Amino acid sequence: MNYRPGRIFLSVPHMGGHEQNYVQKAIEDNWVTTAGPNIPGFEHDVCQHTNARFAVALNSGTAAIHLALRVLGVQAGDEVICSTFTFVATANPILYVGATPVFVESEPTTWNMCPDMLKQTIEARLKLGKKPACILLVHLYGMPAQMKELLDIAHHYNIPLVEDAAESLGSRYGGHQTGTFGDVGVFSFNGNKIITTSGGGALVTANEELAKQASFLATQAKEEAPYYEHTQVGYNYRMSNIAAGIGRGQFEVLEKRVKQRREIFNFYREQLESEFVSFLPEPKNCFSNRWLTTLLLHPDTGKNPEQVRLALEGHNIEVRRLWKPMHLQPLFKDAPYYGDGLSKKLFEQGLCLPSSSSLAEEDLEKVVKVLKSELAV
Ligand SMILES: *Cc1c(COP(=O)(O)O)cnc(C)c1O
Repeated sequence: MNYRPGRIFLSVPHMGGHEQNYVQKAIEDNWVTTAGPNIPGFEHDVCQHTNARFAVALNSGTAAIHLALRVLGVQAGDEVICSTFTFVATANPILYVGATPVFVESEPTTWNMCPDMLKQTIEARLKLGKKPACILLVHLYGMPAQMKELLDIAHHYNIPLVEDAAESLGSRYGGHQTGTFGDVGVFSFNGNKIITTSGGGALVTANEELAKQASFLATQAKEEAPYYEHTQVGYNYRMSNIAAGIGRGQFEVLEKRVKQRREIFNFYREQLESEFVSFLPEPKNCFSNRWLTTLLLHPDTGKNPEQVRLALEGHNIEVRRLWKPMHLQPLFKDAPYYGDGLSKKLFEQGLCLPSSSSLAEEDLEKVVKVLKSELAV
């Protein structure tokens, strides 16, 4: 990482101002541990803002995905259908439980799991005598996936569905928060996300049993007994009361952060959209938090994203390539993949721009100026 002074970062934490009050109180009351009032307070905030019925605060989004697979009963040897166009944290927990990912390609309107290909994939796996144990899809960069079509398929084949909404807190599909459609939803509060606990996650569900089971597994699967009694493998995945305090302060400004990120997207789009540079519009029914503004370079620009990335780096501006699809990762070279190669094209043409809600206007203008001169738009 490069911390030269004046650097414009991709996505940094942005405090609302009240986080310190919650943290201060936790320290005063000596709740400096994985118990204390900020934890149920934070879980209440998650439910209030997402309309989820139950929320379990955890120490990362990755832990939440791992527990989602565990509580849905995914076992070693099972297959889990997973979006290929995502960050590796979506797919890693499939390996944690000893299952095999089966990657499915995206569709062009949201860049998320293609319903038609999902259906084809399920049919193909059923023909091989392998019924997928779970569907794990992502709402990438904050853009909601086509949930109606995807849910219809999951219901038709009776396969549980997990939504990785790590990047899409504040995003809505048909007016409902992403993460609340599937059997289980997952949020991340890592430092680069739209709001943060400094590092944390949450699992949400409408099913009380699943929530209880997740909470149980997150605390070393400690059975009810006057001594330490264990019948299942558990984890130390609970969120700390300090982190939860930061999260409570952050939830006070979630709506504001969504508004700010959307304004940043609109500014970039107004300034840069051209025959050479395109942005992903919001399809009908979708409201994106625009966590990161992404753009695609038309091949006729004569520049590839890596050249542009390096040029901006020369101006101390951090831009990133789009996620490299999972089916192209050496880690997953043996995993089945169903698709037409869309995510590879996106990877080869796309960039993420600095999108912090705290970006100063002059910084945004600097990014645009450098990009315009690089791309000659
Ligand atoms: C950040 C992220 C995660 C994991 O969240 P952590 O809290 O960092 O473990 C999972 N999936 C996606 C798509 C993410 O961007």
